[in-house]
Amino acid sequence: MTTFSIAQSLDEALEALASGARPVAGGTDLVVGSRQGKAPLPATVIAIDRIDELGGINLDDNRLRIGAMVTHAQLMVDPIIAGQFSAIADAAALVGSPSTRNVGTLGGNVMNGSPAMDTGAPLVVLGATAELQTTSTSRQSTMDELWIGPGTTSAADDELCVALNMPARPANSGSAYVRLEYRRAMEIAVVGAAASVTLADDGTIAEASVALTAVAPTILAVDLGDSIVGKPLNDATLAAVADVASETATPISDLRATDRYRRHTVGVMARRAIAAAARRADGETIAIPVNRALGIGANS
Ligand SMILES: Cc1cc2nc3c(=O)[nH]c(=O)nc-3n(C[C@H](O)[C@H](O)[C@H](O)COP(=O)(O)OP(=O)(O)OC[C@H]3O[C@@H](n4cnc5c(N)ncnc54)[C@H](O)[C@@H]3O)c2cc1C
Repeated sequence: MTTFSIAQSLDEALEALASGARPVAGGTDLVVGSRQGKAPLPATVIAIDRIDELGGINLDDNRLRIGAMVTHAQLMVDPIIAGQFSAIADAAALVGSPSTRNVGTLGGNVMNGSPAMDTGAPLVVLGATAELQTTSTSRQSTMDELWIGPGTTSAADDELCVALNMPARPANSGSAYVRLEYRRAMEIAVVGAAASVTLADDGTIAEASVALTAVAPTILAVDLGDSIVGKPLNDATLAAVADVASETATPISDLRATDRYRRHTVGVMARRAIAAAARRADGETIAIPVNRALGIGANS
């Protein structure tokens, strides 16, 4: 039997967590998972969807702050996210169906800790940190520190994720997220890749980062080494990125794909993500999500 209550304030939610309650945001992992028999509902659950402090998307000169309760439906159309942090919008637009996106939240996606989460790789390439709060502490955790295994985070039981923070974007920057999928809706990534690119004045790559979805126990940052930074974007550098991404991946085989297929296709996704991010960095508008705009993934 589960005891359910609705927090009316952040303090109330934090006190409930300190007493052993588990937060529920949109419930699309927690509640749907329990109905599917993945795990029973916790004994005490507290809804956090009425807490104003957990909403909002705010950008100042230095930092973007996205409240943990911001939904995928909000992220995919928000002008700041779609315009400057496009990889997050690409990812949010691919999540589930409209009903999943309307209630599913960024905080829930991150704290559920699935290696197939779509917003994870974008958050990594954009340098995000999770803001974790208790009744008496507040800290920033890098995504790398936060995700420690499939469905497992390093957050303590009494820590609530209140926001995701990341640096403001430099000039001439773009980002993109693409995923391989077998059908359009209600599907999780077979593999996926996010990329962030900053162009130098001469058009070469000044900075680049890539992170991978569903090819390791957690979202995986790729060490690009000297494969692309300082070089022009061309077939040779894109092929080098694809090779490094494939070599970095440590995928499993399951019903949906073999490890070999995942290793190959994640390289293809990394290459496409870098190419799309560079086009956006160069000022081109590519509609959200890149998957649909460029015909990547399933047709229907
Ligand atoms: C049909 C369907 C399709 C889906 N498709 C996709 C998809 O394509 N891509 C994808 O990435 N996901 C997908 N999902 C998974 C899910 O929708 C997302 O992970 C969503 O973002 C979860 O958010 P939520 O608010 O519903 O989380 P909840 O279910 O409320 O919570 C998830 C977990 O995080 C914890 N939690 C929630 N918020 C916080 C917080 N602020 N601080 C600390 N802990 C917290 C909860 O206790 C729980 O353990 C799908 C789910 C369904 C049902």
